[in-house]
Amino acid sequence: MTLSLYDTMSRAKRPFTPKDPSRVTLYVCGPTVYNFAHIGNFRPVVVFDLLFRVLREVYGADAVKYAANVTDVDDKINRKAAEEGVPISVITNRYLDAYNADAAALGALRPTFQPRVTETMDAIVKMIGDLIHQNSAYAAEGHVLFDTQSFADYGKLSGRPMDEMIAGARVDVAPYKRHPADFVLWKPSKENEPEWDSPWGPGRPGWHIECTAMIEEALGLPIDIHGGGIDLVFPHHENELAQGVCSGHGEREYAQVWMHNGFLNMGDEKMSKSLGNVALAHDLLGLYPGEAIRWALLSGHYRQPLEWNDTLIEQSKSALDRLYRVLDDAGRFLAGESAAGGFDNPAAQADFAAVEAALHDDLNTPTAFAALFQLADKVRAAVMAQDARSVASGRDLLVAAGGLMGFLTTDPQAWFHTGADDDLKTRVEALIADRQAARATKNWPEADRIRGELAALNVEVMDGPSGATWRIKEQA
Ligand code: AMP
Ligand code: ZN
Repeated sequence: MTLSLYDTMSRAKRPFTPKDPSRVTLYVCGPTVYNFAHIGNFRPVVVFDLLFRVLREVYGADAVKYAANVTDVDDKINRKAAEEGVPISVITNRYLDAYNADAAALGALRPTFQPRVTETMDAIVKMIGDLIHQNSAYAAEGHVLFDTQSFADYGKLSGRPMDEMIAGARVDVAPYKRHPADFVLWKPSKENEPEWDSPWGPGRPGWHIECTAMIEEALGLPIDIHGGGIDLVFPHHENELAQGVCSGHGEREYAQVWMHNGFLNMGDEKMSKSLGNVALAHDLLGLYPGEAIRWALLSGHYRQPLEWNDTLIEQSKSALDRLYRVLDDAGRFLAGESAAGGFDNPAAQADFAAVEAALHDDLNTPTAFAALFQLADKVRAAVMAQDARSVASGRDLLVAAGGLMGFLTTDPQAWFHTGADDDLKTRVEALIADRQAARATKNWPEADRIRGELAALNVEVMDGPSGATWRIKEQA
């Protein structure tokens, strides 16, 4: 099955062929860690985690090397550290820990590498030196600038003419620049701000060179796939590309596929800290299961804008409830049956293949979700027909198909109980124990009364061969 990916540079969907299938490389621009990240920041995290999972499935888990960086040098970090009177590492470590915890709760696997700017300073300084040596950069007044005129392909990724790039980059007209589009590779730090040594004086790197150096150090150039949000195409990725090519004698390739996720919007606007219209992943994870938020983030195609609202999360939670209900019913049915392994279920297998095919078609998650429901319907029908072999093989395929996308990773009983708070859980468990006791002494009126009490709590009790289980009832 061919994996096809849309490439921003060629503006086309193309079959993906890694340079070396035994070492497939993916890099995604990560967060600046000075605050809790909003749910829009996690759209690339979840989208590229899905790509990471698909690549691991195709090429083998050990063959895929995924680096997602952390920007831990930035004005906003400096400001926050000054406000709290602490070193920047206190701020960056605090918010990086929170970010990684949120990413894990959203089902994202840990990238193979998580390089940090502060740990890549030598490679950054070396790359700037290489660019000067190649006549693609120049030092002036304590700054080092990239000479955009030295790279004939500058603008090719974003497809912008030079005058538009100058306007779009909102570049400062500084006396030390040879051309208004030239951008900073190194600059002096302000007073009392962290600085690092360099041949051009103490200071700190520009944002773009950080990523290029981290890619070279973590993965080696060129890489197979470079990803990030659509807002990064210009200037960030255009500049990364220019640096990567020019620091390698102007001949080196940088990335063979560029992938960009669309915006997550709140109303008509991009969710962003500067607009103040943000929902923090951290807060949402206190209200909804991580899988439900992940489902919401993947419910639209990754290149399209995604409108974020409560209805979307509620619908995503209901979609997962439906799938988990099928797994729960299948599990309960199979508990009373003898082992039924090794049976082929061609109908369910075709749905599994449809999930895979949709993911291989440029991560078409809406189509993959539809195929997942088809598969669940087959399992439900097999339970109704009391066909143990079809239930067993169908259930395994459903779990495997969900697993391709990071879903259905929870035990179904645990899934239904996480919606209930601890008080309710304790009360329900006690009522079920009382009901079992009443049934053991054949006190049927008492057993029925307790069942009624449970129903009033919106709890459904299912008696099975291995005792009674319960779940919150499906909403009508
Ligand atoms: P930032 O911390 O703003 O540099 O963003 C980190 C990552 O999140 C980048 O890949 C951005 O493109 C992406 N991003 C930021 N805001 C949004 C949004 N509203 N929707 C989708 N992606 C976003
Ligand atoms: Zn980057």
